[in-house]
Parts: sequence; structure tokens; C-alpha cells
Amino acid sequence: MSLHPRERYEVVIGLEVHTHLRTQSKLFSPAPVRYGDEPNHDVHPIDLALPGVLPVLNVAVIELAIRLGLAINGTVNRRSVFARKNYFYPDLPKGYQISQYEEPTVSGGWLEIEVPVAGGKAASSGKAASSATRGEFEIKRIGITRAHLEEDAGKSIHDPALAGSDDTLVDLNRAGVPLLEIVSEPDLRSSGDAVTYLKKLRSILRYVGVSDADMEKGQFRCDANVSLRPVGREAFGTRTEIKNINSFAMVEGAIEAEITRQAEILDDGGEVVQATMGYDPVKRRTRVLRLKENADDYRYFDDPDLIPLLIESEQVERVRAALPELPDAKRARFEDDYALSRHDAEILTSSRPLAAFFEEAAKIHGGGKKIANWVLRDLLALLKEREVEVDALALEPGALAALVKLVDSGRLTAKSAREIFPELADGGGDPEAIMQARGLEAVQDTGLIEGAVDEVIAANPKSVASFREGDKKVLNFMMGQVMKRTQGKANAAEVKRLLEAKLAG
Ligand code: ADP
Ligand code: MG
Repeated sequence: MSLHPRERYEVVIGLEVHTHLRTQSKLFSPAPVRYGDEPNHDVHPIDLALPGVLPVLNVAVIELAIRLGLAINGTVNRRSVFARKNYFYPDLPKGYQISQYEEPTVSGGWLEIEVPVAGGKAASSGKAASSATRGEFEIKRIGITRAHLEEDAGKSIHDPALAGSDDTLVDLNRAGVPLLEIVSEPDLRSSGDAVTYLKKLRSILRYVGVSDADMEKGQFRCDANVSLRPVGREAFGTRTEIKNINSFAMVEGAIEAEITRQAEILDDGGEVVQATMGYDPVKRRTRVLRLKENADDYRYFDDPDLIPLLIESEQVERVRAALPELPDAKRARFEDDYALSRHDAEILTSSRPLAAFFEEAAKIHGGGKKIANWVLRDLLALLKEREVEVDALALEPGALAALVKLVDSGRLTAKSAREIFPELADGGGDPEAIMQARGLEAVQDTGLIEGAVDEVIAANPKSVASFREGDKKVLNFMMGQVMKRTQGKANAAEVKRLLEAKLAG
């Protein structure tokens, strides 16, 4: 067969996301939840299930679970039950993890992602996800099966520098940290879909204050379930589950590597075996860690030390009333209030601090579209380069508004404004004062601009001749020459007007 595997097989992905809840203490013990402490300093006997201890539910997690449930359009169940999931591992000295199994706190939700429209048939034949197309982006609704509360396990450290080459160290600071496991339906169709879904989910979690979801601190990790099916076939293929993915680059790399591995097996006429996989980012390969254990292997049973969690509808309504505006609602409002495209509004609302910054600057300036252009181009590039959120910069929304106003009025060229911008980002301050201090005020003097235009025309007879013979492209070159002579401070529209007038004459 000559088609690329991506054209012969459709990729099916479902994600299980583990996100640490923003709490002071653990799910069932008073030990603190802190990051970066000395190993094994934040541990309480309850976290180890020492004889005689009893777990006590941290009530702060209830509100966080409700917030998440509402934010993903899910059902917050009136009754949920904590169960014991039994397994042995060195980082789980209890011998079981307290989780929810048959009765989770949240069930049945969804969120929408905006992804580029894929060219091939493979990408559009998924029937599980409902899609609506707009422009070059497609909106996909991704189902969320459930979100359940559970405690995290400790951490095994295999680093030879710390542990010696054969040994493993165990840090139990993380044991008992509250988390929500959010399980998606198998509605994702590419590694790109998976990354976009994770970013959207992380954004929602941060908006509603459920989790800081910092991947570097291990607060937001996922397991990716991947299967392939021949294009056109309805039944899903056998899936494998890639464990413990903790960066966006790794999500993409791990899923792509697993697609390649499965496609090779299927191409050879073989069968994919259900298994738990690990990903090696250096070798860019997935490998089988263990053959898949089934739920039966965990011998789940209701935890006899804990009563069912009951959540009254009054509490759900109180939490609903206090929820901030969610990303999708904000996006729709930005489209209307500031006449933005859906795509631009989606990016502007991808983080709460960014959305707040944009909105304040737009209000002060009075023109949302112009502010949006600056935020989407210059500000985002800067944030990406420095890997920070906008509130880490000295830049004030009012300063951006003032900068754009200076450009509007012709007192500052866009080029000079772009020179001032990084200075505002680092040191704050008033754009007008910086413009004056650096002598960047645009040349308003028509006489001065005219002089420069005349010089350029006199110095470039060949260009003038080409222009008059119909080669309009030389105009850009000549404008550049005038700009050079005025140190980029001449108003571009004025230069163009004068040049055209003189060349025509
Ligand atoms: P387990 O406990 O075995 O991990 P879960 O029900 O917690 O099972 O999670 C199953 C995950 O696998 C879900 O995200 C689901 O969408 C996904 N999934 C189920 N079937 C497939 C499949 N054939 N291909 C890809 N993903 C799948
Ligand atoms: Mg699971």
C-alpha cells in the first residue's frame, strides 16, 4: 500500500488527566501540600495508613470538585463514594489508593476545542465528536466521561545521581495530595487535538481556581489511550495506555511514537495487544511496561473508613453563582464587544490574566481591534519568548493603550512604537515620556519629509524610471530610503502620499 499510515488509519485518543487541587492540606490528612520541600517532610501517619489512624475528608475539595463539574458542563452527583484501589508499589506504602470508582463526584460533561481543519478524509470521519466548521478552524466538542476525586501516590526517584545506579528512593510528600482525575471520551483524533484539549482544560482549571495545573511541578499530568482503526471502520481498535506524560511536547511525541508503533504492527498483519506503555523522549519510542491490568485486578471495594459524600443542590447553586466568567462565555462576549474573530477571541481568552489585560487596555483605548492586534502579535511573542504570564511584566494596560494612541495620532510610527514596547514591558512607565526621552517622536514636519523625498528621487534616477514604466514595486524601496533618511520617524502614509504625487508629476 502506498498511502501514508495517517491516511489509512484513523487515530482514536482518550485522555485521563490528573490535576492537583489547590488546597492547603492533603485529601484525608492535615499534612501540608507544598512543592519543593525536603523529601518526606510533608507526611502524616494517615498518608501511610499506619495502624489506628482514620482518614478525614478535607472539605475544601468539595467546592473545587463542584466548580470543575460546572465548568465542564458536567453533572455534580448528589452522592459519591470513596473506594480502595488495591495495588502494591514502593511509593504507595498503604497498599491501596483511595479513589472513586462506581460513583464519582462528577459525571458526563464536555468542552469545546478549536483545531485547524484537517485536509485528509481520516480526520473528518470521526462520528463520536460533533463538529461545526467555521473558517479554517473547526470546533470539536470533546466528551468528558467523569471526574473523580482521589489521592496521589508518592514519588519513586530513579535518578542515579541521587540514588546510585541500581537503587530507587521514595519521597512521600506527594502521597495523599488531592487530585481530580478527568477522563475524556475517545473523541480526540490526533496528537494536535490532544494538546489543544489539554491546554483548554488547563485554562478552565486555572480560570475557576481549581488547580494551578503547573506541569513542571507535576500538578497536571496525563495518561494517553491510543488506538488505530482502518479508515471507514466504525469499531474501535485495541488501545494502549501511555503513562505519566508531563509536558505538552511529550504528549505530542508519545502519541506520535505510539501511532507509528501500532501502524507497523497492523501493517504486518499483527494485532495490537492491550498494554500499559512508557515513552522514552530521547529515543522517541514507546515500549510496553506491563500487560494491561483490568479493574478486577485492583479489587475495588468501598472504603469502610469513609461515609459516602453527599452534596446538596443548594451548595451546587451557591458555587454556580460565584463562578467567574468561563473562557467560552468570555470568548463569545469578546467577539461581540470588540468585533473580533472567533479565533482571535479564543486566543485572547486562553488565559485569565491575558484576557483581563486585553480588556482593560481595550476599554482605556476605546478600540478593541487595535489593542487585540498588539496583544496577539507583539505581547504574545514577548510572553512566549520569556515563558511568563502577562502579570509578570511591568507593562500596564493603560501604557499599551497610550502607546497605541500615539501611533493612532501619527506622533509615533509603528516601527518606533515597537522599539518602545520592550522597554515598557521591562520597566513600565509612560510611553510619551519614553518617546520624548529617546527622540522617537515622528517627523510631523511636511517640509522635512518633502526634503527627504526630493533627495531620494534625485539619488535614484533608475528607480524613478522603472516606476514611471509601470514597476510599482520600486515604491516600497523608495519609501524605505525616505524612512532611512528620517530615522524611521516619518509618518509612512505621508511619505507614500508625497512620493506618489512627485513621481506622478
Ligand atoms: P482504565 O481504568 O482502564 O484506564 P478508564 O475508563 O479510566 O479505563 O479510561 C479509559 C480511557 O481510554 C478513556 O479516556 C477513554 O476515552 C479511552 N478509550 C477507551 N477506548 C479507547 C480506544 N479504543 N481507543 C482510544 N482510547 C480509548
Ligand atoms: Mg484510568
